[in-house]
Amino acid sequence: MKSTYETNLDNLFEAIEKARLNQSEHHIVDIVAISKYSTTNEIKTLYEAGQQSFGEYKIQDIKLKSKQLDKLPIRWHFVGSLQKNKINNLIDINPTLFHSLDSLELAYELDKKLKIKNKIMKCLLQVNSSFEHSKSGISPDDVLQTYRNIEINCSNINLKGLMCIGANSKDKQNIEKSFKITKDIYDKLRTATILSMGMSGDYETAIKCGSNMIRVGSKLFTKETIN
Ligand SMILES: *Cc1c(COP(=O)(O)O)cnc(C)c1O
Repeated sequence: MKSTYETNLDNLFEAIEKARLNQSEHHIVDIVAISKYSTTNEIKTLYEAGQQSFGEYKIQDIKLKSKQLDKLPIRWHFVGSLQKNKINNLIDINPTLFHSLDSLELAYELDKKLKIKNKIMKCLLQVNSSFEHSKSGISPDDVLQTYRNIEINCSNINLKGLMCIGANSKDKQNIEKSFKITKDIYDKLRTATILSMGMSGDYETAIKCGSNMIRVGSKLFTKETIN
């Protein structure tokens, strides 16, 4: 019998398959399982069901969980806001991708510390495309300039693209609008290859708007059967 997590993964694959084929056969979507509310045992079970990329929101959690699971070749992503005094911690964890680089100031500080440790980090620039004050991220008008600035001045940051969190709204059109704003900017960046948009409640909309990396937590880790 399939485990609950295998069923959750299969259901997600099926939904993604429909959404991505509506875009194009060549449109591939990566899944990052957000494990911020999950234990290391639950992560291990989902890993054994076939999921290899996991994301955390807090430095102390990614540090602890990646250490406890260091026997597994998990690709760790960091999706939370990074305080300056935690930069060295993140560098030492050597994440696959840091999704939430959210200011030029942080980029300069991160680059400086990467240079000292002689490390490179793949990052996405976080865009505040829902214009919500509670959310971090670069305002859409400033993204192109900030992106170029980091590319030119921060040689130890390897910028791969953009990330955004969809509008916190029941209105699908509002959510779609925030994704479209981010996609429009993404299309102007010749070197960008990753567009990280979409969570459990809005990943289908995000894929429709061009997302090629979704960050799904509750839908994968739920023990209830949901459709
Ligand atoms: C929690 C979180 C997610 C996943 O949210 P779910 O709704 O549980 O899928 C994705 N991205 C970020 C930045 C998060 O903090």
